[in-house]
Amino acid sequence: MRFSVKMRASKDGKHISGGERIVGQELLEKTVVELLRRPREFDLMNIKVQRLEDVNYIEKGLDIYTYIFDSVEKANLFAIELISKATSLEFKTIKRYIELIHTGASDDGQVMRGAMVVDTLGNRREVDRNRGVRTTNVDFEDREKVVDFLLERGFSARTVDAVAIATKNLKSSYILAEYCISDDPEYLFGYVALKGKYIRIYPLKEIGNPNGGRIYFVKDDVDIQQLYRYLQEESFLIKDLGDIR
Ligand code: AMP
Repeated sequence: MRFSVKMRASKDGKHISGGERIVGQELLEKTVVELLRRPREFDLMNIKVQRLEDVNYIEKGLDIYTYIFDSVEKANLFAIELISKATSLEFKTIKRYIELIHTGASDDGQVMRGAMVVDTLGNRREVDRNRGVRTTNVDFEDREKVVDFLLERGFSARTVDAVAIATKNLKSSYILAEYCISDDPEYLFGYVALKGKYIRIYPLKEIGNPNGGRIYFVKDDVDIQQLYRYLQEESFLIKDLGDIR
């Protein structure tokens, strides 16, 4: 039996922390406490525990690659080239959406809570442009092992969640590529995921920029309801990390 544990916390009405896990009963209490202790302080916290009916398994996460550049422009040009190859979208279309992520993609100029969805004709397809779509219900089967392994090799703990999300995303037959930058102003690594690869790229954003976001590049014949159902409702456990290249 597996349980989904989701935590989100806010302070002064603003989202400050969140996390989610899929664990067996033996880890349930430990996981709830771990997530409870995550934000240093908060006004409101929601912790939701749900027994999962069906869990699908993925044998391996995406293979992890790392590319370092000496400027944000060069790093993004590399990202755009990769995405263009995977989607056949023109550079200028991809660039326009990436710029939107860097400047705050929701109507009020804030960060979107979920991902933007762009199809191969260059159209935005998310149901709600301010919220975007969130990928949930995915985790590593042995999370502790994966965290230790990545930390030992100099990766940050946040890589674990990002690889899990990107691995689930690319399992969808509709998603061709993903672009991501963090909303942490200090965290400049971003990534592009495509074709079995999680490609970390540095520096994908300017230091001090509080904006972040994700773009899911999808086929133009996407059934958007089906994609949302897949991303939000189907549960996946990833058995192992991919290769580190
Ligand atoms: P993070 O990698 O947590 O720094 O998130 C970077 C940005 O990606 C956030 O600002 C959101 O816009 C978006 N995001 C975060 N989590 C998810 C998710 N689970 N699914 C889709 N988009 C997300």
